[in-house]
Amino acid sequence: MPPLLENVKIEGNVLTFSLSGIIPALANSLRRTMLAEVPTLAIHEVMFFENDSPMHDEIIAHRLGLIPLITPMGRYVPKDECNCGSELGCPKCRVSLYLDVTASDYPRVVYSGDLRSRDDPEVRPVSNSIPITKLPPHGKLRLEAYARLGYGREHAKWQPVGTAIYKFQPIICIKEYCNACGECVKNCPKSVLGISNNHLEIIDLEACSLCKFCMEICPLDPPAISISHDRSKALFTVESTGSLPPKEILVEAIRILKEKSSKLLEEIEVSTNEKKGE
Ligand code: SF4
Ligand code: SF4
Ligand SMILES: [Zn+2]
Repeated sequence: MPPLLENVKIEGNVLTFSLSGIIPALANSLRRTMLAEVPTLAIHEVMFFENDSPMHDEIIAHRLGLIPLITPMGRYVPKDECNCGSELGCPKCRVSLYLDVTASDYPRVVYSGDLRSRDDPEVRPVSNSIPITKLPPHGKLRLEAYARLGYGREHAKWQPVGTAIYKFQPIICIKEYCNACGECVKNCPKSVLGISNNHLEIIDLEACSLCKFCMEICPLDPPAISISHDRSKALFTVESTGSLPPKEILVEAIRILKEKSSKLLEEIEVSTNEKKGE
């Protein structure tokens, strides 16, 4: 049976879903693909014209690179896949932004919202309130920044996600001899358990973090509760940086994984045929 993806929920930039009928390696491949293989835009080159801030150009360039940019999916190609062959890139593989700020009679903080897109108004910072540097009175910061598509495997600034984690499906087993003393209910950090009609019951199984504290705290020996997990079902939480909608990150990661698997299969077939022909 193919893996089953269900219980998909999206709240803002956070996507949760479950994947069953898998082996742990598949869950990890999907997680790694979302982190490292789904491309996003990030600032990679900066040309400074004036910088009166107390920060060196290199530090500001580094900070600019870490600002998540909204990435229109499919509109740009990574520089090494573009046929322009140009060191500076072309409109297919590069987006130009600029920053031109002059402080008044007072010091002024320069924020990500001061960055303007020259080429594509859709490519802009996810948040306008990320501080970049501070200018003294009448100080200036003028620069041109070039964003390009890249991968999390090259640098974390290209990761489309802040968090991509999974845990295996918890299994909680309450033994017959549980006397419903409630110790585990009081001490569970995730409010997974409750007492109803003088019986211990599971209220929110998926919230269980598998910490096993309930087993440690149970006054009975052996404990009247046991915790284990099902390694064939993973519960994922994915939080986008905002550069791509979280659902697009998942869909693109699955597409990339399928493409890589097909390539691997082809290569295995070719090498098997070559061996047979030897
Ligand atoms: S393993 Fe931890 S989170 Fe899960 S029920 Fe026990 S105490 Fe609560
Ligand atoms: S599992 Fe142990 S701690 Fe929890 S209610 Fe039963 S006896 Fe008490
Ligand atoms: Zn190009």
